[in-house]
Amino acid sequence: MAQAFQPPPTPYVRPAPPRYKPGSVASIALIFTGFFVFMFGTLAAALTGIVHPALVAGLGFVIMASGGAVMAMVDSGQERPVPAPPAVQSPPPAGPQAPRGSIEIPCPNCGAPPQNVDRFGVATCGYCQTRFLVH
Ligand SMILES: [Zn+2]
Repeated sequence: MAQAFQPPPTPYVRPAPPRYKPGSVASIALIFTGFFVFMFGTLAAALTGIVHPALVAGLGFVIMASGGAVMAMVDSGQERPVPAPPAVQSPPPAGPQAPRGSIEIPCPNCGAPPQNVDRFGVATCGYCQTRFLVH
């Protein structure tokens, strides 16, 4: 009796976890309930006069506060990504740089301002043709 080839069982793929935890859903429900109690319960109490509206308002406030506390507890155990602070690019330090073009080194031979400075920093005096370094 030949044994039929059996494919390996496919691994069970876990479904993605729900986005909202039950705790946060409960806290949101609490906050909404407290809000409605605070809003409409107070109004109903004021209309009917069965209980004092301040009591209903306080009850709604307590329910809302407990919902907020539950939400805080749920959020504390949750790791949320912290947005990176924006990269502040500090401007380069402005050092005491002489503006380009103003060369203060005169010709060592005759004292005339240098002219025709080439890219190596060698100037040629326009009067006595002395070549000198201006850097
Ligand atoms: Zn010169």
